Amino acid sequence: MSIIQAEYIWIDGTEPTPLLRSKTKMIAAGMLEKVLGAIAGVAELPKWGFDGSSTNQATGDDSDCQLYPVFAVRDPLRGGDNLLVLCEVYKHDGSPHETNTRRAAAEATEKYKNLDAWYGFEQEYTMMKDGYPLGFPEGGYPGPQGPYYCGVGAQYVFGREVVEEHMVACIKAGLKISGINAEVMPGQWEFQIGPAGVVESGDHMYMARYLLGRIAETYGVDISYDAKPAKGDWNGAGCHTNFSTKAMREDGGLKVIHEYCERLAQPERIALHLKHYGAGLKDRLTGAHETASWQEFKYGVSDRGASIRIPMATDLEGKGYLEDRRPCANIDPYTVARLLVEAAA
Ligand code: ADP
Ligand code: MN
Ligand code: MN
Ligand code: MN
Repeated sequence: MSIIQAEYIWIDGTEPTPLLRSKTKMIAAGMLEKVLGAIAGVAELPKWGFDGSSTNQATGDDSDCQLYPVFAVRDPLRGGDNLLVLCEVYKHDGSPHETNTRRAAAEATEKYKNLDAWYGFEQEYTMMKDGYPLGFPEGGYPGPQGPYYCGVGAQYVFGREVVEEHMVACIKAGLKISGINAEVMPGQWEFQIGPAGVVESGDHMYMARYLLGRIAETYGVDISYDAKPAKGDWNGAGCHTNFSTKAMREDGGLKVIHEYCERLAQPERIALHLKHYGAGLKDRLTGAHETASWQEFKYGVSDRGASIRIPMATDLEGKGYLEDRRPCANIDPYTVARLLVEAAA
């Protein structure tokens, strides 16, 4: 009987920003077709466990946590019939672990399915080498920001080989990656996931993050999701979250978008969202570097200095989507997606 390698991936309990963890399980081949991309089929994969006392998810005297497979794709790194298996973490007693934010997102998917919410996450990140962003000369600084964003040429672009390999791996895995670009600070990049649904967009985001971490390993580069990896006159790293409901995408949608923005402007909603928009938020949302200050809320057409930007095309067509520019690179996409759809209900 042939076997495959299934890489079981989960989100740990590191604070304030969780890390991805993974380990490999040999399983009997032959279940591939049943399992791939199918939420129902994935339940056929065996459950597994891990030592939660080593991941800030349990104490040593009751250390076992459970892994329930929830989303599987073909592993583009090992190739063949091997799998990447994203898991939810459950406690000893079978209840969802406190760190399991996917559960609430999965429930929101079901509860608000009539809204048909779509998300596009713009995941920014910074490649680091020896503690400095890639492209920063040892002990000093590169030339000021300007030529690096969507740049071309070795003097402006650092780490493209990692980015290209990652993009191809995401495509091979069947993830909904919709683009990549070099960002404003040297060594800073972005990939986009979407449009995809509530829990689906988070699943694809975590798989894409996993692949990025694995590929960067082979180049001896660290991937940082730090919201402000270089202090001073350097852009922070965000995860702009583009959002729409069916009503926003249909005729008359612009009005629905404006009403939605007014709802996001309510003080209690601002506070709730900012609480979950990532560690280092106040360092990044200063009002400079294409951000609105965390202390004010404003929305506007084409405004990259606003909290919420309504894209020009949406304004012109009278329907489409909006961009929440506040989330930091290190957000939990499940929670951000859930909050945005709850605000639309
Ligand atoms: P920016 O101009 O802010 O850099 P990007 O092109 O990087 O924008 O990202 C736009 C994102 O919006 C993409 O991830 C795309 O999938 C997503 N998107 C496009 N249309 C919609 C929609 N109707 N609802 C939600 N997201 C959308
Ligand atoms: Mn972008
Ligand atoms: Mn960007
Ligand atoms: Mn954007």
